[in-house]
Amino acid sequence: MATTRRFFIESIEKEAVLTGDEYAHAKNVLRLKEGDEIVLLDGSGVEYDAIINRAEKGAMFCTVLNGRPSEKECKTPIALLIGALKGDKTELVVQKATELGVSRIGVFSSRFCSAYMNENKLDRLRKVAREAAKQCLRATVPQVEYYAGLGEALDSCRSFANKLFACEFAKESDVELASLAGSCALVVGSEGGFSQEEFALAKSKGFAGVTLGKRILRAETAAIVFCGVVAFALGELQ
Ligand code: SAM
Repeated sequence: MATTRRFFIESIEKEAVLTGDEYAHAKNVLRLKEGDEIVLLDGSGVEYDAIINRAEKGAMFCTVLNGRPSEKECKTPIALLIGALKGDKTELVVQKATELGVSRIGVFSSRFCSAYMNENKLDRLRKVAREAAKQCLRATVPQVEYYAGLGEALDSCRSFANKLFACEFAKESDVELASLAGSCALVVGSEGGFSQEEFALAKSKGFAGVTLGKRILRAETAAIVFCGVVAFALGELQ
């Protein structure tokens, strides 16, 4: 049986209205109509069953039936900080990290980073996160932010219990990944990698160096593997 279609909207009460992109998707792509059942999500982690009761140009009016907490969200928060990547590689990372249950994604610029970010690209990343969240049946969308410098990005994760910095020149990991417990902030560099000074900065801010093995992984591979390994260690892939 096909999964009931899911839509993120700003706020949900007894009545809810689909507008904008979500309306266009429901109307033009999925061809939904009056009487169809849908699931509405407000990003709070609750899923609401709803029925479309009226459609007009630019808006679908829905009656909300009942809500229940989603069972798809990670119990332990995981944040990913990733250096801005070239082409559409950052989008790939945002999509996969969302599927793996990450709750926050920070894209940063660093010394050897050659990609740039602007408002349009950031909007696009947020849209990718929302679409990935819908596709994998999540009830929240990871927050996606941009940090102009590595220091600022690292500071945004001050409250995390585990702060882990994937470093291509670390000989061994400072922590045992298999026995992680508590919230985790993960950092992965861009194609150009990190400088020794950047690694030292991260250490001074409480980040532990982590190796992902003897081979140098592409940045997008490293980000996806790192999220997967940590999610597994936290018991979030069961
Ligand atoms: N330009 C760098 C070089 O030539 O050594 C490689 C950078 S790598 C493509 C991009 C990022 O992926 C690194 O900054 C690091 O965060 C992560 N990474 C890749 N391979 C890794 C490994 N074996 N261990 C830890 N992190 C790794």
